[in-house]
Amino acid sequence: MTIVRVALDVPLPTLFDYTVDEAVVAGQRVIVPFGRRQLTGVVMVCADSSLLAADKIKPVVQVLHDSAPISAHLLDLLRFCSDYYHYPIGQTVLPALPARLRSDKPITLKAVLHYRLIKGTVDFVPKRKALALRIMEMLHQQTCSLAQLKILSAAVGVQLKWLETEGFIEQFVPAAIQLAVHTMPVLPHTFANAHQLTHEQQMVVDSVTGASGFNCFLLHGITGSGKTEVYVHLMDFILQQGGQVLLLVPEINLTPQLEQYFLSRFPDALLVSLHSGLSENARLANWQRAQTGEAQIILGTRLSVFAEIPRLALIIVDEEHDSSFKQQDGLRYSARDVAIFRASQSAVPIVLGSATPSLESYHNALKGRYRMLKLTARAQVAASLPAISCININQTVMTEGISGKLLREIGLRIERGEQSLLFINRRGYAPVLMCQECGWLSDCKDCAGKMVLHLKDHKLRCHHCGFQIRMPRACPDCGHKELVPVGSGTQRIEAVLQTQFPAARILRVDRDSTKNKRAWQTMREQIHANEVDILVGTQMLAKGHDFPALTLVGILNPDSSLYSSDFRAAEKLFAQLMQVSGRAGRADKSGEVLIQTAFPDHPLFRCLISHDFEGWATSQLAERAMAGFPPFVFQAMLRAEGMIEEDVYSYLNQARQSAIELHHVVDIMGVIPASLARRANHIRAQLLVQAVSRRDLQQFLRAWQPHLRALSSRNLRCSLDIDPSEF
Ligand SMILES: [Zn+2]
Ligand SMILES: [Zn+2]
Repeated sequence: MTIVRVALDVPLPTLFDYTVDEAVVAGQRVIVPFGRRQLTGVVMVCADSSLLAADKIKPVVQVLHDSAPISAHLLDLLRFCSDYYHYPIGQTVLPALPARLRSDKPITLKAVLHYRLIKGTVDFVPKRKALALRIMEMLHQQTCSLAQLKILSAAVGVQLKWLETEGFIEQFVPAAIQLAVHTMPVLPHTFANAHQLTHEQQMVVDSVTGASGFNCFLLHGITGSGKTEVYVHLMDFILQQGGQVLLLVPEINLTPQLEQYFLSRFPDALLVSLHSGLSENARLANWQRAQTGEAQIILGTRLSVFAEIPRLALIIVDEEHDSSFKQQDGLRYSARDVAIFRASQSAVPIVLGSATPSLESYHNALKGRYRMLKLTARAQVAASLPAISCININQTVMTEGISGKLLREIGLRIERGEQSLLFINRRGYAPVLMCQECGWLSDCKDCAGKMVLHLKDHKLRCHHCGFQIRMPRACPDCGHKELVPVGSGTQRIEAVLQTQFPAARILRVDRDSTKNKRAWQTMREQIHANEVDILVGTQMLAKGHDFPALTLVGILNPDSSLYSSDFRAAEKLFAQLMQVSGRAGRADKSGEVLIQTAFPDHPLFRCLISHDFEGWATSQLAERAMAGFPPFVFQAMLRAEGMIEEDVYSYLNQARQSAIELHHVVDIMGVIPASLARRANHIRAQLLVQAVSRRDLQQFLRAWQPHLRALSSRNLRCSLDIDPSEF
């Protein structure tokens, strides 16, 4: 009788012991009784004995053989995450797997099925069936998966079907699936090598391919410098060696486009994508194709960092600074940071790419912990960087949020048949509705925020909790009839432009206008076909889209991030503005960027105008060092929210007291309200702890954990966030 220690998706920081009377290995999925339920879990450890009394240990209900066991490698990675992020092991392991592997229904999929001979001789197969004979020969040596047989020919499927119906072979699920990873041969692939690398790009490619073992590279390349071309050449190199590449990208919206692009460069390679937009079956199938080693390129959003990739040879994190790599609930991991750990664990290189690296990564590169690689020139010689300038909104006439200069420039673009983009990071018509008589504001009844006016459907809607009401005809407080919208959102800018340019074709791109799944795709096609004159949109438009006719970018209202209480707000703003500026002027048309601001002399704009990321990063790092912010310290944030204010604060204050009494070398801040102090009728507050070394912080957190668990947190939602990115 063996004891297995099983990870279960329950909020307890422990494994659970069960007995099992068949041979089991770590990583195998099992169905076990838990309370009155049955749960699917993952065997983490096989042992001879348990600390529990024998009569307390229940037997495993079923050992699942329908999928290969989770590799020791992935289990180690998940153990590391549970440990580093101080999150229960079961709630780390199970959610990292595709949903189908977590359910208690067995799965049967092509990827795990093998073929074997029924009649042990090839003599009965007609000689003219050459491919069928070769299949029989191969199966005579050993049982094979479809992937392995495909090496014979891409058309193997038809012959397999024939052999099966004729009764020569059969499909079966191997009892304990041993992955064919090591026998997986190197498949030849076609590389559509259309572009000649520039000298700079070649140097970058050589640095990465020339390194051996784990190396973390920061690829800092200006917009248009051809980072993707570098990625493609790196992939080609890895594919030639028979390795697998993991490419992490920030946005789910971009994955279909990227998938198409990479397939156009590697027409016969097997590329799979992994993101939350896939159906459960598709995600499992793709996951298993990565697991068998069959998929050569794995393209995915943050969750793909937990894919099984037995022949992993390179990780690329594109737009490494992007905040979507950080998960904001459950296991609050940073996919970029986990990817770096994973690369070091697998002893493979990792490339972090960005035009505006995060200050953390940039700092690490300056300190020599990462190797800095630079692309300083645009790949196409003719393409120059856009000319950026500021418009001081206090010294110019504004028409409902748009300056005269910007309107004139848009007019010029329309005459020339070119496109303009107005960037405003606020959707809706106006961020707040106000009564001019008594000063009433459209507060959300359940949140500390305001309800946004959506004039299109005459609603006031809270963007924090989703609560909405019809737009009132008169002031709810004093009955005054004139309610005025204050400030601008995308809908209002769209309306202003419609009045100013009645004949122009205007397209608004934000979360409201792209709710429909196909909508964004259709819009992109319209933009590419130059069927649009003016684009109005949020950050959705900033990322990774190439619009050849776009020559003017207007940035409205960036100022609120300049003096935010979140110390990362300016860093994020710089990256965003740099990214959206990069949309202007590609190929042979030069671009222009106009920024409407009340602070044209702010260092952020000065650096942006001169395309000076280094200058900006250096000044920001100096400020962070002075103020004692990351990357010069390491932080953990304890958050709590609940209906009763006293409960929330009493929990956090007790947590703070217990932290102080531990006398570790950490700074323990005061308990303060969250930046949105109330959301959906829940009071929210937080407690920040920081230390100058990661080790000190981790030691403290380990000591603090039992105290936190001992505190009463009834009716509260509490979370501990390591390396928090939002304040
Ligand atoms: Zn009023
Ligand atoms: Zn609300």
